[in-house]
Amino acid sequence: MKPAPFEYIAPESLEQAVEVLVQYGDESKILAGGQSLMPLLNMRLITPSVVMDINGLDELSYIRQEGEHLHIGALTRQYRLERDARIRQTVPVLAAATRLIGHPPIRYAGTIGGSLAHADPAAELPAVMCALEVELCVVGPSGARRIQAVDFFRGALDVDIRPDELLTEVRIPIRQNVMWGVQEYTRRAGDFALAGAIVLAEMEADRWTNGRVVLFGVEDRPLRVPRAEAVLTQQVLSDSQASAVAAAAVAELDCHADLHASAGYRQQLARVMVKRAYLDAVAMWNEKREDTAGSA
Ligand SMILES: Cc1cc2nc3c(=O)[nH]c(=O)nc-3n(C[C@H](O)[C@H](O)[C@H](O)COP(=O)(O)OP(=O)(O)OC[C@H]3O[C@@H](n4cnc5c(N)ncnc54)[C@H](O)[C@@H]3O)c2cc1C
Repeated sequence: MKPAPFEYIAPESLEQAVEVLVQYGDESKILAGGQSLMPLLNMRLITPSVVMDINGLDELSYIRQEGEHLHIGALTRQYRLERDARIRQTVPVLAAATRLIGHPPIRYAGTIGGSLAHADPAAELPAVMCALEVELCVVGPSGARRIQAVDFFRGALDVDIRPDELLTEVRIPIRQNVMWGVQEYTRRAGDFALAGAIVLAEMEADRWTNGRVVLFGVEDRPLRVPRAEAVLTQQVLSDSQASAVAAAAVAELDCHADLHASAGYRQQLARVMVKRAYLDAVAMWNEKREDTAGSA
């Protein structure tokens, strides 16, 4: 199918883009990488009267470090997240999770902002943003707003952006000594995850601190699980903790069921994904200790 007719507008500045949104609001849709929007248009699941193409806004495509934060512009293509040396060095979990998105052509076109604004419950980037405690910046006619990632995702395909606003930037705090794991289960390579998990914690004297456990693909949005984070945090490092963290992570899950997986199967997958991600983080710490001992 072809999209229903729409007016195409390509603003030349962020200011112009906001003016278009103020004028057309709910009647308009922003086009970034088009990897989620174009199928919706082509199937006529949405029929906006205006499509605003922001691909000319180079000012929204950047990765830069400012002090203890990494700033990433909303129009930055996903493939850059996988390859950028600063990201690999400071927040490697972001590079690893991005590599799990679809296939290379999708990541060459798709943007970080598009993925976050689209907010598919099984998408990797929204979950990473919650795990990294990222702040998202949106801009509208009354200026900029900053929103914590966990508050930004309100439900399936539902985020805290008003019709006259656009997402412009994510700000990622850079922390030291972070061990992490990201795991997902897909039916075929490149598919959206049936269930996925990110486990991440800082390591101090063989104890985890600031543990974060985030599930995706299981409920209507990425889910931080404080109950599992409490089990993880302050524990002495050990493989045997993996089962306890995984059990806590899924204890109160209300998984959705669909054609691909029942709620019970999804819950079991989530448990296994948390356990694997935890063990990856443990392995990362063990490797780091061996490297340090070897070079002493
Ligand atoms: C075959 C296939 C497989 C895929 N597999 C995966 C996968 O495994 N995991 C995954 O996470 N994703 C997957 N995707 C989706 C992909 O990651 C998309 O790139 C992403 O969801 C949307 O990014 P985009 O830049 O293409 O945005 P678009 O498709 O251009 O836009 C998506 C939505 O976000 C809005 N939007 C875009 N930019 C902004 C902005 N700056 N401010 C406000 N609103 C904005 C648009 O209006 C639209 O509603 C897949 C896509 C395809 C086609």
